Amino acid sequence: MQTADNAITGLIFNIQKFSINDGPGIRSTVFFAGCPLSCLWCSNPESQNKNRQAALASGDPRLAGKAWTVDEVLTEVEKDRCFYEESGGGITLSGGEVLQQHSFAAALLKEARRRGLHCAAETTGYASHEIFSEFIQNIDLLLFDMKHYDREIHREKTGVYNDIILENMRYALEQKVPVIARIPVIPGFNANKKAAAGMAALLKDMGITEVHLLPFHQFGEKKYEQLGVPYRMAGVKQLHPENLQSYLDVFLKEGLDASFK
Ligand code: SF4
Repeated sequence: MQTADNAITGLIFNIQKFSINDGPGIRSTVFFAGCPLSCLWCSNPESQNKNRQAALASGDPRLAGKAWTVDEVLTEVEKDRCFYEESGGGITLSGGEVLQQHSFAAALLKEARRRGLHCAAETTGYASHEIFSEFIQNIDLLLFDMKHYDREIHREKTGVYNDIILENMRYALEQKVPVIARIPVIPGFNANKKAAAGMAALLKDMGITEVHLLPFHQFGEKKYEQLGVPYRMAGVKQLHPENLQSYLDVFLKEGLDASFK
């Protein structure tokens, strides 16, 4: 018997099986299309709203995405249920920005919870309080992006201010939702000790205890070529954990449980 709300569909561009870096255990990560931000370093440029036309024009379903119902997503995800049960895993919603399709995300989370799946989401937190507060009702873990503590620098490199993002992060913590902060470490943006110190102090003050650092990589470069859109991080060297020990130390010295992912 179907009980999911299948009247709505979500635009999904990938369901990645056997994810081990998107929450505890072995997980299936569902990548939502659409993102209101435009981060310079984005490795999923097809998800940015401003590149939507280029993604459609590419003719590649992996870039353009495809409409799925809640049941269709969960049928795919539940194929690996035995792995989730053995490893303590589950489903993770990612993107793009999952809050961009908040009605579908809420329906998917509600049904996933009803089926006994552990539900995590990776999010920028960039949405109104009303949307965000509904979204976290059925969340077991938030992997919450922290890109920069400074609102002007944040806007310069991502296209939006961080005010509402920080408000939503505070609200999730007040509501006792487990939150792990995830920081993309980006050259020319936040890969410096001043930015690390600012973010570490802010996160500690907010009550965050765990931080994941994600060193800059170039995995998305080819997609920019496919889409025919300019890539402003072309030629920038990738970062590696072994060269970022002093950066990590800034977070550890604040008493945060920080590690590279
Ligand atoms: S929030 Fe993520 S998906 Fe959106 S533009 Fe930034 S890096 Fe890309």
